[in-house]
Amino acid sequence: MSTGMVIIGASQAGVQLATSLREGGYDERITLVDGASHEPYQRPPLSKDFLSGVVDAEGLRFRERDYYETNNIVLALGSPAVKVERVGDGGVVMTADGREYPYRRLAFANGAAPRKLEVPGADLDGIFSLRDADDAERLKASFQRTDNVVIIGGGFIGLEVAVNALQQGKTVTVLEAAPRIIGRAVGEETSEWFLQAHRKRGIRIDTDVQITGFHGEQGHVTGVELGDGSVIPAGIVVVGIGVIPRTELAEQLGLEVANGIVVDEYSLASDGQTLAVGDVANIPNPYDRTAEAMPRIRLESVNNAIEQARFAATTVAGTPAPYKSVPWFWSNQGEVKLQMAGLNMGYDRVLIRGDQDADKFAILYYRGDTLLGADCVNSPADFMAIRQALGKGKHLSPEAALSSEPLKKLFSDVVIA
Ligand code: NAP
Repeated sequence: MSTGMVIIGASQAGVQLATSLREGGYDERITLVDGASHEPYQRPPLSKDFLSGVVDAEGLRFRERDYYETNNIVLALGSPAVKVERVGDGGVVMTADGREYPYRRLAFANGAAPRKLEVPGADLDGIFSLRDADDAERLKASFQRTDNVVIIGGGFIGLEVAVNALQQGKTVTVLEAAPRIIGRAVGEETSEWFLQAHRKRGIRIDTDVQITGFHGEQGHVTGVELGDGSVIPAGIVVVGIGVIPRTELAEQLGLEVANGIVVDEYSLASDGQTLAVGDVANIPNPYDRTAEAMPRIRLESVNNAIEQARFAATTVAGTPAPYKSVPWFWSNQGEVKLQMAGLNMGYDRVLIRGDQDADKFAILYYRGDTLLGADCVNSPADFMAIRQALGKGKHLSPEAALSSEPLKKLFSDVVIA
């Protein structure tokens, strides 16, 4: 009997790959191996509606319970893969509890782990990271026991948790090392708008801050020490300072690794056989408009996990299609909905449409006359119009974009060159 495909990681990318393989007619065995014991679940609500209690664990499920059995997808949960060995044309994945999963084809979809802050006191109780459902359960429980939350890192995790904590009546401080918040994802204007909006609602945000240690009493954190010697009191601390791709197993196999598992446009690693999808994969930039400024990229987003896995399934099916996509992201921070389309790398000009004072606007990024992408705040129609237009290869000059007409109308007038 064939031993089929083993996918390491049963989150967004891994589950999508399994699903797309079945939909594409792949009839061999598919096994999803994951250290978590929960059935596969969605992560985006963890820092939003799950933390506030609007969504419970049941509401996080990707699929109905019987989906995997019906589709002959084996869920090998509860013990992480710790070793991978090649055997003949295939290999075997070994888990920490001693089980072995032979494969003919292997895919890595094992994502990334939260970066740790390496300072004195980092192992005190009451210091959390937030990546999986267990982290979120622990953080949610700790919210009940404190009035004072300090968040390290002003990225998506940090700001989404900050708003949540504020809505639950806590005193909230965000400490960001960089000169501006969400700096990895958005341009300066958007960062500045979010900084002012969050400060206005009562969140203290300090930028250019260096964390030098944690203070504690009886093993529990009580404060965060900064580079200038001051100490910010803390009931609990949430650390959201980015993630590191999990590449150890790929390295064991001798695959090329550089900020993720290096793959080609067919999601194939350096051995030409193993696949890598989602946060763990370092991919050729799938977005033409910024590929020159950044030829390779690691995209940490739900959209990329889904799209790249869909394309990867065509590789396995023997009808390989090179991965092309317009990246998009979203972040809900209280009543503010940020949606980003495209990538802004290499921009030299921004245009602002709408009204920043009315909390409803879009910032368009241009390189010369080429629209690269946009950050849309509470402007879902603009976001959809831009995302679709970028996908169709439509161009809208900066002059045309300044018109007060809706973007949907402006794009509909554009003829594709
Ligand atoms: P992130 O978005 O990369 O943001 C981390 C932030 O922490 C950056 O601004 C970073 O600044 C800062 N930082 C790094 N080291 C620091 C230090 N020592 N002290 C203070 N600040 C520091 O990462 P994240 O917020 O931790 O999120 C983790 C992952 O989950 C990401 O992949 C993110 O995209 C994903 N996620 C996405 C969403 C969403 O799409 N809505 C929501 C939650 C999580 P530098 O840039 O200068 O390093």
